[in-house]
Formats: sequence, structure tokens, C-alpha cells
Amino acid sequence: MTVDHFSTRSQATLPLADRASDLVGSVIDSSTSLLASQTHDIVRFAMGSPADEAVPLEEFQDIAAQVLNHSSMTYGATEGEPVLLKALVDYLAGTSDPTSEERVTITAGGMQGLDLACKIFINPGDLVIVESPTYTNGSATALSYGAELIEAPTDQDGLIVEALPELVAATGRKPKAIYTIPNFQNPAGVTLSLARRHQLLELAHEWNSVIIDDDPYGLLRFEGDDLPSLQALSPGDPLLFSVRTFSKILAPGLRVGWVDTDPALRQLVINAKQAMDTCTNLPGQHIVAEFIRRGGLDNHLAGLRVEYKRRKDALRETLRRHLGDRVSATDPEGGFFLWLTLQGEDARISTRKLFETALAEGVAFIPGPALSPSGKFDDALRLCFASTTPERAEEGIIRLRRAMDRELAA
Ligand code: PMP
Repeated sequence: MTVDHFSTRSQATLPLADRASDLVGSVIDSSTSLLASQTHDIVRFAMGSPADEAVPLEEFQDIAAQVLNHSSMTYGATEGEPVLLKALVDYLAGTSDPTSEERVTITAGGMQGLDLACKIFINPGDLVIVESPTYTNGSATALSYGAELIEAPTDQDGLIVEALPELVAATGRKPKAIYTIPNFQNPAGVTLSLARRHQLLELAHEWNSVIIDDDPYGLLRFEGDDLPSLQALSPGDPLLFSVRTFSKILAPGLRVGWVDTDPALRQLVINAKQAMDTCTNLPGQHIVAEFIRRGGLDNHLAGLRVEYKRRKDALRETLRRHLGDRVSATDPEGGFFLWLTLQGEDARISTRKLFETALAEGVAFIPGPALSPSGKFDDALRLCFASTTPERAEEGIIRLRRAMDRELAA
């Protein structure tokens, strides 16, 4: 069918691919545009962005002056700039998530890593287990390749791995992939326990399922002890596809992340990426590489951990003071988010409706149903504590309480 450029057509008449109906979009991302268009003062707990003051801007400006030259204006190697691969692998050697250069491919942020994983592993109709609640941009990526999702419950120790065999048995099929966010999960802030990490690896092997291990927040632990990554527990495991990003630890606008896969899979990852964007943004890669090479990352992360712990503690205290037992909140040991569940009378409130009222009162969050592919959790919501100072957070929670009171009275 030829496209008639001179008439306006409804989408129904366009020769769309079958998969177009599975492109569900992102409520999380749409809230960025929605908030950008608001002119009144809003306390922004919605987006999972680092605080402006958490971005080492002056150092980036200094580095940019050094790395913006002709060699960063050309095409680079698909797998990533050698200086970045080396700096990254050297840095990770001292963490709970070590790797090696033959495993790493640099990507345009974590989202591209998720897309690569799904492009390589997911056929239309394949079952993919996702956490409930989950980062719905991740589940949307699986949907965009035609996956059927199974939402598996989570608790304080992350994905309830013990629940998976029964859920899977009910489908009569084996899952192709298990999508997990093991550390300080987006959105609930919970962390997969060591015992469950082992169980998850065992089940993945029993079913021959790939584990898409999405961990943007692992380096942001501010309480408790680091747990070994799935990779560290099962070194060289070909079923692990690890997705990482600099978005939360440096800046999302850089669009630099990486995937860590079995070396035998790496060429396929590179081929898939070549069909998407050839190579990742070179200036961004050089800025990150030089920042690490100058030795700035450790100090930077140490500063973030102190500040994010202060912000998390202050937000929990503010919640206790202003909302008391009207809500229960998770208590993350790192990362960006905590998850509020409305209690008692307040559980009658729909957080989808509360969102509108709260926005009018000057506070924004992500309603629970936006974080579940099937729209569960209408009595819950996600708050990002990382980007708001304690003083602003207190104002935000006072506004949230006003919005809750208005919804209850409605
Ligand atoms: N996975 C999770 C769990 C995330 O929270 C995010 C960012 N919100 C991403 C992936 C995407 O990361 P990026 O911005 O680097 O694409």
C-alpha cells in the first residue's frame, strides 16, 4: 500500500505492524511532559532523576572542553569507546559487580540494554515474568516484542521467588525470561535477598530462562551490606543478561549505560545494536570515561550515598509526622524510591484520582497502577526521595495530605 502524503489518515487505515498495538507507552515518561507544562509550584516526587545538585556539572564542563574534538564527532566502535570500557571495568573490579572487557557493550542508557535483551531473546507470545509492581518501561519493552507478561508478587525481600513455580505451572509453559530489578527496586525500593538470588538462579536453570538483571541503583547503597550481584553468584552464567546505566549515578541526559553478557553472546548484542544506532553518543562516553579516569567516581558516589540517606530518612520522618498511620512506607537501603500504601479509610482513595488533586495542590508522584502492567496498586504510589531536599519534601507531604483529605471528603 502506498502512503498518501496529501491526505490525513486515521491510524486505523495505516498499514501498521501487528506489534504497534503492543507499544503501550510510558506513564512515567508522560508525567515528565505533563509536569514540564505546569506553571504553578510543584514538589516533584514523580521522576526518578538525580537531584540537579547531584550532577558534577563543573567537572563535566571542564572535561567536555577537553573531549569535544573531531575524534568525538565521528562514528565510534559499536561495543563502546576503548577508554570507557577500560575505565569502567577497572572501576567495577572494586565493587560487588565485577566484570571484564569481553563481556561489556556500551549502550544508550539502561533502556537500550533492556531493548537489546528483549530483541535477542523474546519471540511474540513468549512468557516473561515481571515483578509486581515493576518498572513499567521495562515491562513495556518486553511487550513491544510481543511478550505475554506474568506479574509475580514482591515483598520486603524483593521478588517472591518461591511463588514462581506455581505461577508458571498455571500457564503450562516455561517463561522465556525473568525481568528483575534486584537492588532498591524501582518502584518499591526493596532488595532481593541473598537466599532468593540463589533460588532465582536455580529456577532460571531449571526452565532455561534468561534473567534480565536490571540494576541501575546497585552502587547507591547507603545502609546495610552490599549483596553479591547475580553475576558474582554465578560467574560466567550464560543465562544472565545484566543491564546497567550511568543515568542514576552520573546523569540521565548523558544516555550512557552498558550491558554485561556472556562473551559468546556479545557479537549478537553488537549486531543488534548496529541495527539500532550503530554506536553510543561519543562525547557522552568520553565525558564518563574521563570522569572515572580522573578518579572522581568513588568520591562522587560516597557523596550521593550520604545525601540520599539523609533525604530518605527525612522523608520517612516527615511521613510519620504528617501522615502517621494513614500510610505505610517501605524503607529502602539505597536507590531513589519508596513505596507508600494507603491504610485504613485512606485505602478507599484511588491514587490515580489522587494524582490530579495532588497536582492541583502542588505535589507530584507516580500512582501505583502506572507501575503494574495490569494496573494493580490503586491504593499505592511511588515517591522519589533523591531529587527533593528535606525542606521541600516536607512541603510536598503537607500538600499530599491536603490532597488526601480532599479526596476522602469528595
Ligand atoms: N531500569 C530501571 C529499573 C530504571 O529505574 C531506569 C530509569 N528510571 C532504567 C532502567 C532506564 O535507565 P536509563 O535512563 O539509563 O535508560
